[in-house]
Amino acid sequence: MAKAAENSEEKFELDGMDPEKIKEELLAKYPTKVARKRAKQIIVNKVGADEEVPVIQSNVRTVPGLISQRGCCYAGCKGVVLGPTRDIVNITHGPIGCGFYSWLTRRNQTDPDTTPDGHNFMPYCFSTDMQDQQIIFGGEKKLKQAIQEAYDNFHPKAIAVFSTCPVGLIGDDVHTVCRQMKEALGINVFGFSCEGYKGVSQSAGHHIANNQIFKHVVGLDNTVGDGEYRINLLGEYNIGGDAFEIDRIFEKCGITVVSTFSGNSSIDKFANSHTADLNLIMCHRSINYVAEMMETKYGVPWIKINFIGAEATAKSLRKIARYFGEQKLTDRVEAVIAEELPAVQAASAEVRPRTEGKRAMLFVGGSRAHHYQELFNELGMETLSAGYEFAHRDDYEGRKVLPTIKVDADSRNIEELEIHPDPERYNPRKSEEDLEELRASGMEFSGYEGMMPTMKNGSLVIDDISQYETETIIETFKPDIFCAGIKEKYIVQKHGIPMKQLHSYDYGGPYAGFKGAINFYKEIDRMVNSKVWGYLKAPWQVNPELAATYAWE
Ligand code: SF4
Repeated sequence: MAKAAENSEEKFELDGMDPEKIKEELLAKYPTKVARKRAKQIIVNKVGADEEVPVIQSNVRTVPGLISQRGCCYAGCKGVVLGPTRDIVNITHGPIGCGFYSWLTRRNQTDPDTTPDGHNFMPYCFSTDMQDQQIIFGGEKKLKQAIQEAYDNFHPKAIAVFSTCPVGLIGDDVHTVCRQMKEALGINVFGFSCEGYKGVSQSAGHHIANNQIFKHVVGLDNTVGDGEYRINLLGEYNIGGDAFEIDRIFEKCGITVVSTFSGNSSIDKFANSHTADLNLIMCHRSINYVAEMMETKYGVPWIKINFIGAEATAKSLRKIARYFGEQKLTDRVEAVIAEELPAVQAASAEVRPRTEGKRAMLFVGGSRAHHYQELFNELGMETLSAGYEFAHRDDYEGRKVLPTIKVDADSRNIEELEIHPDPERYNPRKSEEDLEELRASGMEFSGYEGMMPTMKNGSLVIDDISQYETETIIETFKPDIFCAGIKEKYIVQKHGIPMKQLHSYDYGGPYAGFKGAINFYKEIDRMVNSKVWGYLKAPWQVNPELAATYAWE
């Protein structure tokens, strides 16, 4: 199906240029073998009938030597998925450098007051600080001591242990240590085999995190709490307070959040999450595994939603109301939308004359590069190019391509849990007839259309963009804003282009929901219209430039 779009001869224009030519220029500097590989990861978008898009290669190893934006498997497991939980002591078993690397630089906010005991371990960075001695003689003893010390000092309800590269290489058995300490301390202690080298990127760490949280935590507390419309929000990490704004909207609508994975959440909420009646997926890549396993074992359906952008927020709320199918909820949701939208529209009308027609590029995460395009659309801005750091083909092309994705050695490296319906607790939330009716009304379950079908024809979709490619497309298009992470921030700014971090939001946010959209409009207006960028001179513009050629030239 995807082949037709790929082979199409139709030519497109991108910002007045030929995107195919830009692609050729990007590849021209690479050795033939590298160029051949990158050609499959740099795609000129073309959306055909039924949202058919070209095939993009993704979730493959970065060519050594290319400077990538990616993080390691450990960073995805500890830093992304488990890190934002406020009351788990997370211990990095490894050298201190790994721990520093994932030390909550993402600004996941949390509200300890919402946990009765007020625990908050988030700003702490626990590590076994492995030294040469442990690398030679083994580090299990030190890990045991670290777990004991964390328990003595903080008395947490749970301790999670994360393996780094050296741990896998010397063969420390973190799972046995965790089991022994669980027995000794009487609290939940569980480990993750998330050594940095274990996957092609942080994506492998997300999968491992999902597996372990599902195995060791989800389902431990069967208490069904109050609330008529009970949901989990998955893949929302509360960067800059996003989850707080979404919670505010849910509360107004009368929707109860059982658990957020994992922004502003707690171990108890994870343990109880299987009692919700619907799972909502924000970041598809990092957490779709938990949603699928929860559906198979407990019968909780999942839908893809997006709370980035005011229109997207309204659409997602209506989707939730449609799922529960009660007029009372539908009316309340409509009332909330009607109450919230005027302020958003007023803010948009104010900034739009200054942002209309400006151009953006986004290279972040596993859904953010998609979601934030909605906010830029609301500002009348065009996204010229976008891509993910760690996505798989389904994040680009939609889940319909899942059966065609080949499992390679890197994916086989990660445990696939065999999940079956729970004999006592499996409870389908909707009958087959109800589900059919909802599907007939346009509701999609367990589906995600991916980023490419919603992008313009001719836009450049680039997987695992390299620093060289980043700089080349910046020089070629001179976009009005570039969105990426901290590692890219300063090279972008040296080109005189404003750079917005979409992993940590710099010091801004929230950007989710209605109030978040207003914050984003103001922030982008300020950034794309600031004259300061025009005065910037990169060091190579003021000092003599060193020139060289590549060995193969
Ligand atoms: S790649 Fe390995 S050594 Fe480097 S930060 Fe990740 S776990 Fe630590």
